[in-house]
Amino acid sequence: MNKKIAFFPGSFDPFTKGHEDIVLRALEIFDEVIIGIGHNTNKSRYFSIEKMTEWIEQTFVGKPVRVVAYNNLTATVAQEMNANFLLRGLRNTTDFEYENSISQVNRYLVKGLETVFLITSPHLAPISSTIIRDLHRYGTNVDEFLPYKLEE
Ligand code: ADP
Repeated sequence: MNKKIAFFPGSFDPFTKGHEDIVLRALEIFDEVIIGIGHNTNKSRYFSIEKMTEWIEQTFVGKPVRVVAYNNLTATVAQEMNANFLLRGLRNTTDFEYENSISQVNRYLVKGLETVFLITSPHLAPISSTIIRDLHRYGTNVDEFLPYKLEE
């Protein structure tokens, strides 16, 4: 049987407990999850790719999870990594509107590349990377929203 590999793309700036929940639930469905940190050279990040990769790897030690950074079309990278599914989380209708078209484009680009959506766990729905960045920028401790400890 073909190994079921899911590619989970995102900015992950930072990777949150909302993202962790999606990955842990996906591991019940897929044999392996590859977390792809999409990195646009024109956009600067708040947390570096290197640090974020390390923190995500720490979070999933011992589990069939890999972390890669990429700067290319998501569908192309998923195909290169032999992933047969894309994984995304859905929090609300705004997420849905965007995901609806992007998943159709991705399936057009790579035939048979299906996107699997997991609905957010309600207690994690309000967590967004944007809000966490804003809290952190102004000195608020954000540890309770992250599955790893930020270094001082
Ligand atoms: P992007 O910039 O591609 O939206 P994000 O890093 O913000 O990347 O999110 C990656 C994926 O995780 C998206 O599918 C997003 O909807 C999902 N996600 C983000 N936060 C949560 C959460 N709290 N619960 C469930 N899914 C989430």
